[in-house]
Amino acid sequence: MKGVTIVDHPLVQHKLTLMRDKTRSTKVFRELFSEIGALLCYEATRDLALEDIEIETPFATMKSPVLAGKKLVLAPVGRAGMGFLDGILKLVPSARVAHIGLYRDPRTLVAVEYFFKAPDDMAERTALVLHPMLATGNSAVAAIDRLKESGAKTVRILCMLATPASVEKVHAVHPEVPIYTAAIDDGMTDTGYIVPGLGDVGDRMYGTR
Ligand code: URA
Repeated sequence: MKGVTIVDHPLVQHKLTLMRDKTRSTKVFRELFSEIGALLCYEATRDLALEDIEIETPFATMKSPVLAGKKLVLAPVGRAGMGFLDGILKLVPSARVAHIGLYRDPRTLVAVEYFFKAPDDMAERTALVLHPMLATGNSAVAAIDRLKESGAKTVRILCMLATPASVEKVHAVHPEVPIYTAAIDDGMTDTGYIVPGLGDVGDRMYGTR
């Protein structure tokens, strides 16, 4: 699928299988969520620009690369998006964090915004949208719309699972936005849950059901 990277690293696939198992505890589910977030981020940031700086090692002076320019903006979407945040901030501690408060209307599956906050200098940063469950694609489109309105020029989406329909929807509106996902599942239930999927990840992560 064009514009989609399935992160098929054995560690990601192993952890995803553990998460799919409905008997997994809330604690372990949350830990795996965070770990997969970090591994997806590793893949999605492969091409970040580097610049050489001069440093002194204990034995010599040398030029060595560091990340160039302003750092990432992480943009978790809703409750589920927060599950990726911890693990990614461990990898990129200087990233800024936007927040995209969206929930899905359970009747219409349309995205409803309740909060939005992003840094002023979005145009100078790569934004990673943390959107674990790309089911209909509606909230991903709304999240990218919002980030672009606030100035973002470079946007990537990180998700745990996507459906073929959601990928199509996101790329119909935002064709240049790459999607990094651990897997593409078959489809969705009538109520908008991915199948075979992971269930309601917010509930599983926070123990609310
Ligand atoms: N949100 C979830 O938590 N799970 C899904 O399958 C889809 C959206």
